[in-house]
Amino acid sequence: MTLLEMPLPVFLAWWGLVGLLVGSFLNVAIHRHSIEGESISKPRRSRCPSCKTTLTWRENIPLFSWLVQRGRCRTCGWRIPLRYPLVEALNAGAWVWIASRAFPEQWAVGLVQCVVVSALIVATFVDFDCFEIPDEVSIGGLVAAPILSFVLPELHRGGVLVAWLDGTSQLDPSRRAALTSALAGMAVGAGILWLIGWVGSRIYGRDAMGLGDVKLLGAGGGFVGPGAVLVALMIGALAASVFGLVNILRYAFLVRARNRRRGRRRGFGHAFATGRVAGRYLPFGPFLALGIAVVLLAWPQIEPYLHFVPR
Ligand SMILES: [Zn+2]
Repeated sequence: MTLLEMPLPVFLAWWGLVGLLVGSFLNVAIHRHSIEGESISKPRRSRCPSCKTTLTWRENIPLFSWLVQRGRCRTCGWRIPLRYPLVEALNAGAWVWIASRAFPEQWAVGLVQCVVVSALIVATFVDFDCFEIPDEVSIGGLVAAPILSFVLPELHRGGVLVAWLDGTSQLDPSRRAALTSALAGMAVGAGILWLIGWVGSRIYGRDAMGLGDVKLLGAGGGFVGPGAVLVALMIGALAASVFGLVNILRYAFLVRARNRRRGRRRGFGHAFATGRVAGRYLPFGPFLALGIAVVLLAWPQIEPYLHFVPR
């Protein structure tokens, strides 16, 4: 029995396990990039970041080891951050979701989407750690998107530019339309963010947008096309505003609690002003990655809502 002949539930269970394994590899990539600056290939065996003990295979099973060991290193008792199983579960969940819709007819499109989502997960957590998006993800995406779009035009199925070039009812985009959609998506994604950054730096007198964000949205646009990349930016900006406000409030309540503990009679206005300064610095990359992932994985669900726009 080949993979493509497997019954869907069997395939999804197997693919979910592969997603967990890849997720644990993503953890290694994130950790090495953020903290140690080591290459991914050495040392070959995983180690506990705290006591440097090489992990046995039993301690290295994605998700399950964390659950069995109740989130602690067996040797030194170091509390393994919730992020490790979270990244594994997130990657596996996304992979199963993608496969459930792409398998078996659109397996190649599904495979590309799985790789793109895994790369976005890496970019998200590295950016949270060190305010930097790895070039392997952003530049890698900028190079891969037009090539893959030409090889696999179905990647741009449902895109607005493809519909315009090929005719609206076209389900299988032509290579020419898919490549055009990829290049236009890259130009629109990178261009609009660069423009926003340029205007922002004129208004605030400091760099408002990192070049990493510009490259990331450009790469995302190469996979989703020029229409969807604008929707991705809107989703990202909205998510960043909500999360940013929550973050500021979190700091504000911490400051207020401290003021009360020390018996200072200061209103919430003071706490909020302090919280605004402390909670302002958030990376934008994770929210862009979220927006790109949402339009990549749910475009057929989103697109009908956009039809109120007159064509
Ligand atoms: Zn340890």
